Amino acid sequence: MSNRTFPEYKPVQISDGFWAIEQNGVRCWLFEGDDMALLVDAGFGGDLKSVVQTLTDKPVQLILTHADMDHIGAAWQFGPVMMHPAEFSYYEMRNGRLPETIPVWEGETIDIGRYCFEIILISGHTPGSVALLEKNHRFIITGDTVGKEPVYMFGNGRNMPAYLAAIRKLKGIKSDFDVILASHGKMNIEPEFLTQLCLLASEICFGKLPQPQPAPAHMPESVKVYKKGDAAFYLESK
Ligand SMILES: [Zn+2]
Repeated sequence: MSNRTFPEYKPVQISDGFWAIEQNGVRCWLFEGDDMALLVDAGFGGDLKSVVQTLTDKPVQLILTHADMDHIGAAWQFGPVMMHPAEFSYYEMRNGRLPETIPVWEGETIDIGRYCFEIILISGHTPGSVALLEKNHRFIITGDTVGKEPVYMFGNGRNMPAYLAAIRKLKGIKSDFDVILASHGKMNIEPEFLTQLCLLASEICFGKLPQPQPAPAHMPESVKVYKKGDAAFYLESK
């Protein structure tokens, strides 16, 4: 695994004890607390641990927003992994053997002192996708569920009706955050964008699909982009 060459991890400091770590189109997040640091996602792979060690000398706990391969690449470097149990079988299906895990459940909080995160289950993009809500600093990390790049909604494990329910759930708590932090594309997304995602997802659920547009050439031929305003999904065309 470690013999492959991966794109470089590039940390960008957002505020005190808070970094985005960019890697060729995907980002993970690092938060330094009083006695420990929390790493959210682990990119495509490569030496993430060394990069993290340049930013904090605290012990690092990894939590996964979900188990797509661009979020778990370097997960093996960080010991037992926090993950929602609804993601376990998806992890195995996509990536083989499940690593040692620490289950995290809806409503649990991860308090590291300077930052305190509430876990919110947002199934749909994957079965056990979670969001991390930080009410004091008024932001939420949503993995791939919210983004201004098309959200991948084709293939095993994707579920559009569940996704719609997840977006409605996020809309229902949007008074708790001022910004959504996305893993791909534009980093800071305004909470109002959830309305656009909700509209497009519900139209798709009720069979009112917009005219499909071509997906990039590297994607399967059956996959198309379904777009309305800034909201977009990659879906299998029927
Ligand atoms: Zn991703």
